[in-house]
Formats: sequence, structure tokens, C-alpha cells
Amino acid sequence: MNIKLNEHFLDVKETYLFSDIAKRVKKFQEENPGREIIRMGIGDVTLPLPASVASAMEDAAKQMAVKESFRGYPPEYGYDFLRNAIADHYKAIGAACVTPDTVYVSDGAKSDLGNFPDILGDNPVIVPDPVYPVYVDSNLMNGRKISFAGGTKENGFLPEPPSGTDIEPSVIYICSPNNPTGAVYSREGLKAWVDFAIKTGSLIIFDAAYEAFISEDKPHTIYEIPGAESCAVEISSFSKFAGFTGVRCGWTVVPDAIEANGIKLSKFWARRQATKFNGVSYVTQAGAAASLSGKGLEDCMANIAYYKRNAKVLAEVFSEKGIYFTGGVNSPYIWLECPDNMGGWDFFDSILNRFGIVGTPGEGFGTNGTGFFRLTAFGSYENTLKACEYFKSL
Ligand code: PLP
Repeated sequence: MNIKLNEHFLDVKETYLFSDIAKRVKKFQEENPGREIIRMGIGDVTLPLPASVASAMEDAAKQMAVKESFRGYPPEYGYDFLRNAIADHYKAIGAACVTPDTVYVSDGAKSDLGNFPDILGDNPVIVPDPVYPVYVDSNLMNGRKISFAGGTKENGFLPEPPSGTDIEPSVIYICSPNNPTGAVYSREGLKAWVDFAIKTGSLIIFDAAYEAFISEDKPHTIYEIPGAESCAVEISSFSKFAGFTGVRCGWTVVPDAIEANGIKLSKFWARRQATKFNGVSYVTQAGAAASLSGKGLEDCMANIAYYKRNAKVLAEVFSEKGIYFTGGVNSPYIWLECPDNMGGWDFFDSILNRFGIVGTPGEGFGTNGTGFFRLTAFGSYENTLKACEYFKSL
């Protein structure tokens, strides 16, 4: 065949991270038949959907089976009932600039993160390091030039805006609470980025997928920061909040005030979605709306509290041992410095062989992940306690 391919796909590095992990675990199991494995590498939720949310979905499915209440294609930007519920959620967390017509419902944050570069031109891109790999790969696929804002022990894995005067207008990715580091920006920290974006004419893409885990006084949305409504879009998800990793629903906020060269960004995003996306099922949106209020919200927050308790007991052990870490408080992730100057893979092998614990080497998330390690709090409380006992003996 002689058609031309998008050869920018060749720039995307093959990721062997999870297959390498799977291979090492398989070998361990073959060599140690019957030994228990404690999985702390997973970024997926494990608790089932709250019954209140599942029951709203069941009701919606029943409506679909009745001629009078059957619904066909959903509106491409989401049903009003869900766009209103999401806007109410923002009002409750102090971001009244998010009105229902600025909310675009989707099948998840990953799709929106991956699709957003469609409507942007060839701008420089700034992503954090360590990083959720989707930001990097979706830009490489479009041939964009990427630079990294380094998260380090010195800045608590909260990268700061680049300094200098000749910075081109750029597309900036920020994730808070962060995956993989669990670090969360303060208002001042986020303000520095918003001020930088305004000064340089840049756009921020803010990933708030873990917002529900925030319990300290930290910003829940970029729109808590004055000026953000003119320079930031926010992408979020029901995945970790409502256990929707398998159900699939998320949203993007594109404020009306964001304009580039006299064109509203929302106009392009609305056009992109209307052309390439046919909406989220009614059953899914009914469940998503149920998770945002009343019993549904209460039940989702109880599940979050369960994961947060896991994170807390892990964090206590690392604090007691004097091991440097970020996360564990407003996040389901603990990002720790491997003891004894070990690399992430050495630490991986060490805790797998000694304790049967599986985590994720920081090297999988970027250069600055070298010598760090990600543990997740999405497992069971019982297994987390077992892991804590093991970690005490490190
Ligand atoms: N953003 C971050 C930072 C994530 O860690 C994840 C999933 O792990 C996503 C987005 C994807 O969310 P969704 O399941 O809505 O596609």
C-alpha cells in the first residue's frame, strides 16, 4: 500500500512498563507458587458502584425499554440534567463561572485529553515530569514540540512555571491532585501558573480527575484562581470519583471567555465534538447525575473515604520511617523515594521478592521519576494493612 501514514506515531515511545511489570510478577509467581501478591500498582478502582448510582442507571435502562420514554441519540454535549448537575458541583466548590453551557460531557477524561490537541495548532507544549503519559503521547502523535516542567524533591513534585522573557505562547498541562505523585497545588502555586499563562498568552489544560480526594484546604478547580476562566480549560472524570472506570463518563469545561486570535475556543471544541463524537448513553449520564447529589454523592464520598484511609495508613508508615514521599493525603497515590538510593526497578524487585508487593517504578512516568516509586490506595484495607506491616520492616 502506498498511502501516507501519520508518521508522528513513530515518535511515541513503546511503553513496556506494564508488560514488564506483568512479566516480573509472572516469573515471581512461577518461582513462588502459592505466595500471596499484594497489588498496589493498579490505578483502577476496586469498590463496586454505589447501589444508589446503579439503581439510577437501572431506572434509566427501564425507561429505555418503554416506547414513551425511549431516547435515541443523546445531545452531543450531554443532557441538560447532567450539564446542570456538573455546573452546580462547580458552584458548590466556589467556581460560579462554570455555567452549564460551558460543560461538554464525554466518555471520559482520557478521550478529552487525547482529543483536545485536534483543535489546537502547532504550539509548544509544556508538560510536567513525572507525567501521566497521555499528555505526552497525544501531542507527539500530532508532531508537537514538548518541553518538561520538572517535578523534584526540592519543589515537592509541584513544577513551577519556566522563567525567562522570551517564552512563546504554549499549551500547558497541569494535573492536581497529580498522578503519579499525589502532590496537590496550593492556591499560590496554581496562581503562578495562571499568571504565567496570562502573561505569555498560553492555554492551560487542567486535569482534575482526582479532585474528589482533596480534603485539605487546596483548590478543587483551576477556576478558584482569578483569571483562569480566560486561559484554562478543565478536564475531569467520574472514573475515580464515582467508580466509573468501566462505565465511562467525564467532562471538559471550556469557558466562553477563552479566545485565540478572535476565535472562541469553545466554538472549535463544540464543532469537534459535534463532528466526531455522538454523545454518552442516557443510562450512563443518569448514573453520573445520581453521583453528584443526595445519597449518590454520599455513597461515592464513602468509597473515596475508604481509599483515603488506605492512603493514610501507608503515609503514616513512610512518615514514621523517615522515607520521603508526596501524596497520600489528598490523593490515592503515594510517591516515595526508594530507600538506599535504589532505582525504581531495583526497589520493585526487592519488595516483590521480599513481600509479594507490586507497585510501579517511577521511571515509567518520566526522567524525574528515577529512583521513585508509586503505590496506590485502590486495594483492600486488609491488604493495605498487610503491606504496611511489611513496609515497617524496610
Ligand atoms: N487523568 C488522569 C490524571 C488519570 O490518572 C486518569 C486515569 O487514570 C485519567 C485522566 C483518565 O480518566 P478517564 O477514566 O475518565 O478516562
